[in-house]
Amino acid sequence: MSRNNLRFRQVHLDFHTSEEIAGIGAEFDPEEFAATLEKARVNSITCFGRCHHGWIYFDTKAFPERRHPHLTRNLLKEQIEACHARNIRVPIYLTVQWDHLTANEHPEWLIMDTDGRISGTPPYEAGFYRRICLNTPYVEFLKAHVQEVLETLPVDGLFFDIVAPQDCSCIYCRAGMKAEGLEPSDPGVRMQYATKVVHGFKADMTRFVRQFNEDCTIFYNAGHIGPRHREIVDAYTHFEIESLPSGGWGYMHFPLTQRYARNLGVDCMGVTGKFHTSWGDFHSFKNEQALQFECFNMLALGAKCSIGDQLHPSGKICQTTYRLIGSVYSEVEKKEPWCAEARSVVDIGVFTPEEFVGGRHNATSMGLARMLQEGAHQFDVIDSAADISGYKVVILPDNIPVSDEFTGKLEQYLSQGGAVIASYQSGLNQQKIEFALKSLGVRLKGEASYSPDFILPKGEIGKDLPETEHVMYLRGMEVEAEPGSEVLSDVVVPYFNRTYKHFCSHRHTPSAGKVSYPGIVKKGRVIYFSHPIFTQYNRNAPRWCKRLLLNALDILLPEPLVRLEAPTTTIATVNEQSAEKRWIVHLLHYIPERRGQDFDVIEDVIPVFDVKISVRVPESVREVVCVPEQKPLKFEKNSGRVEFVLPKLEGHQMVTLSFS
Ligand SMILES: [Zn+2]
Repeated sequence: MSRNNLRFRQVHLDFHTSEEIAGIGAEFDPEEFAATLEKARVNSITCFGRCHHGWIYFDTKAFPERRHPHLTRNLLKEQIEACHARNIRVPIYLTVQWDHLTANEHPEWLIMDTDGRISGTPPYEAGFYRRICLNTPYVEFLKAHVQEVLETLPVDGLFFDIVAPQDCSCIYCRAGMKAEGLEPSDPGVRMQYATKVVHGFKADMTRFVRQFNEDCTIFYNAGHIGPRHREIVDAYTHFEIESLPSGGWGYMHFPLTQRYARNLGVDCMGVTGKFHTSWGDFHSFKNEQALQFECFNMLALGAKCSIGDQLHPSGKICQTTYRLIGSVYSEVEKKEPWCAEARSVVDIGVFTPEEFVGGRHNATSMGLARMLQEGAHQFDVIDSAADISGYKVVILPDNIPVSDEFTGKLEQYLSQGGAVIASYQSGLNQQKIEFALKSLGVRLKGEASYSPDFILPKGEIGKDLPETEHVMYLRGMEVEAEPGSEVLSDVVVPYFNRTYKHFCSHRHTPSAGKVSYPGIVKKGRVIYFSHPIFTQYNRNAPRWCKRLLLNALDILLPEPLVRLEAPTTTIATVNEQSAEKRWIVHLLHYIPERRGQDFDVIEDVIPVFDVKISVRVPESVREVVCVPEQKPLKFEKNSGRVEFVLPKLEGHQMVTLSFS
């Protein structure tokens, strides 16, 4: 499978169905099912082979005891046949680590914690969230099950759900670590071993599948894609980025993850849901405007679209849901010609702290992504193994330690004309005792003596900010500028730190007007911020933190790909279709708002008028056209840039720049 041929309009059709419900699939009508999907412009739907309850939804000879006890028909096979008749693909969903039936029968196969307890759903609570260890004989069952699927059903793809490394002290893992001479009581050793077990499972399962089917798609889901996927990417045909903004992921997870995943060499799709909240939220509906934004943002970031739904146990497909999905997918279909085989065009590479600290929601990355997005900058999220030679600037946000090898890579990048922005503890060696990255031009004295302290913007770095103290809430590092470095902004300190001995008013102590240490230092093409400005922006979004960063970028990147005169709620991205010799500028204007306590919603499309856009282009532009409407726009060429005005941005607009 080539890297770019996932279908654009997919549905992930959950079907975790209790054995206490009768008449499973009794109201399934193959004709109605496929016709409804076709009408909603769905062209791929992932249907269920086996669910988290552990039940199978096709006629199985190998495991008849696992067939759902009230399944009234060969449901999966009928779904596949009806869809294939209308050229709709049907990848098959198979649960892996959550399987209620198996968990009850084989407690010895479950992940065990260091207290010797089974983790996940306790015996007297609802849920199937006990995880099965992939170092156990469970894998033998799974392979026999997968083999039967591959031998008895037409298989377009396999979606293996819940496959992630787990800290496990089960008898198999302890014996495995002992056999390898490892010390299982060490948490670090256990996690390394767990990663090896899961990578091994994926590589082995992909090899196994290929014995029966050479070209079906294969994906292993864990609700996130990050640096740990780089070394096992060959086991995948593509990535699906499960990220329901209302389901705990929020609106920043997908863009951050996609900006990373799209550079690992396989096609990607975003997965949201039609639910108001998250999976299993029956009879709920996402606002149409939110679904538009989520799908169009996937296109803007170079991903295909998938929307999660759950089929009713009766098998009857919900018309309201597919009217909703169809309202968005009919638009996606019109936009596809400008999204197929598109590659993002970017200036900036942002190193992800996830490589060093883990976790799918990194506060630092989210703050940085928001700042860059609000500044209309074009960027990728990268790890230390990435090729950075193509970026005009790389950013090491707040807590990126550097090894000798990583330092060498950055120094070489700088010597070839690159530029670096680093902040807070980034650039320190792994022991965090001194700066390994000498090009930062600063020497570490320690943590800042005062916090909060105050940055004093001035000159170019202080553009659009008054030249007065601005509070920096989070404690920074105290550094000394080395000879040859220029202090762009000083830090002014308060009279004293706030303690029980001395404090002033409700919050922090005001400035004593005394300049004490550098806040922003520049050396050559490197700018260092001593405060954790990105973590700070994620916490409470002080505009001055963003302004200082954007000003630093103006210094290092005076001709950015995109300049935008529009509200900061506008998102702009640039993709290239090289075969068509054109760039596509995506503009989005949707405003997520926290209307309930739990998550952000979008209910309106608020148009923006007369958006002025300037794009740095590599060659002469022949025409600028709004698509798919095919409405040409007047444009001007101005020293390597094209400039034009979009009269009205209503939701999402693509504008093509065609090169001569
Ligand atoms: Zn185990």
